[in-house]
Amino acid sequence: MQRLKELHWQILFASVLGLLLGLGCSQLFTWTPDNTLWMKLIDFIGALFLRSLRFVAVPIVLFSLVGGIGALSDLQKLGRIASKTIAFYLTSTAIAISIGLGLSSIIAPGGNLSTSTRQLLQSNNASAVELKIEQAVAPDVWSTLLNIIPTNPFSAMANGNMLQVLFFSVALGLGVASLPDKQRILLVDVFDGLTQVIIQIIHGLMKFAPIAVFCLLLSTGAQLGWDVLGILGQYVFTVLLGLSLLAFGLYPLIVRVFTKHSVMTFFQSIAPAQLLAFSSSSSSATMPVTLECCQERLKLDNDVSRFVIPLGATVNMDGTALYQGVAAMFIAQTCGLELGFMDQITIVLTATLASVGTAGVPGVGLIMLVIVLESIGLSTEQMTMGLSIIFGVDRILDMSRTVINVTGDCTVATIVDAFESAQSTTLSDSE
Ligand code: ASP
Repeated sequence: MQRLKELHWQILFASVLGLLLGLGCSQLFTWTPDNTLWMKLIDFIGALFLRSLRFVAVPIVLFSLVGGIGALSDLQKLGRIASKTIAFYLTSTAIAISIGLGLSSIIAPGGNLSTSTRQLLQSNNASAVELKIEQAVAPDVWSTLLNIIPTNPFSAMANGNMLQVLFFSVALGLGVASLPDKQRILLVDVFDGLTQVIIQIIHGLMKFAPIAVFCLLLSTGAQLGWDVLGILGQYVFTVLLGLSLLAFGLYPLIVRVFTKHSVMTFFQSIAPAQLLAFSSSSSSATMPVTLECCQERLKLDNDVSRFVIPLGATVNMDGTALYQGVAAMFIAQTCGLELGFMDQITIVLTATLASVGTAGVPGVGLIMLVIVLESIGLSTEQMTMGLSIIFGVDRILDMSRTVINVTGDCTVATIVDAFESAQSTTLSDSE
């Protein structure tokens, strides 16, 4: 009973209950929110909660980064945090895809899909998939880099373009840090005060998280149903196995070897963010909660988490990258194509880039998969066929990969924090 008072237990309980009830409903009737008031209400509550989280995302990044960087007397610290973060993000993403490719080679999930199943899935989803292929635009490195700088910071904030908001916040923070102390302290106090205000709003919102998560999962479970999982069991199993290797192998190992946190404390602290990621399929919507978990529950250095977490929610997607590796191999196997070593290297490179370019919102990983498939030379017909087959199970895999995306961000924040505190101790000892 005592345990149920803790938020993450309440969210977990609500998630399991919502999902089971939803899957049960899927056996009884079709979920069409436009038909009944109660279904509409359930969808509405879920959407309302996600919208409220989106609403605090831009202000929390802006206020907390400007306040944080403005207060930094040591600007080299920011450089150190940024370089370590980028290096860890890229490395963990490349490892994730390699695990996905390795597992797909061993399990070969696409090798034994019967022709009738293939045709059935293709005919069901082909039109939805054609639309996704049209939406996919390959990220060009130069324009991606150029686009980090907003031409108008206010429109970046208005459109919620997180990389641009990050750039603006860092620039503004650096400007504040370079002012004379009297003005600097005043501005830092204002931005810190505003950050506290937003944190209070997040605290208030989180009280509703169990109800919202229940509604989100009830609706998703009812639309998903059990059946589709059976048909594509091997493919789903390969993706979930890969994600589990990250969650229960790589990340705990990193936390254990490089940081002072126990693996148990780490997972308990980030559980609310993971559960929210699972029910929302959106690392961007989860970001304010992820930040709160890192700052208040894991007690990471604020300078580290306020930089690493918003950046990770935008660019670091280990779960998505692993999924793209498995899906590319699966589709190639279904088409009867053999992927050689060079093709696999191409997948690692394009999936890393594609996962950086994937926005942290539901279903984008599937759209960006088109770019990975194009890079290994699949034709439009082969892509349409492959994507139609995996389309039906995408939601459940999206929920799972988003949990890993968020866990990866928290893991990197935890190691950067550990390295940073070790380095600050060494620097202050040598002075
Ligand atoms: N839904 C994922 C996220 O928000 C992105 C994706 O893989 O579709 O992290």
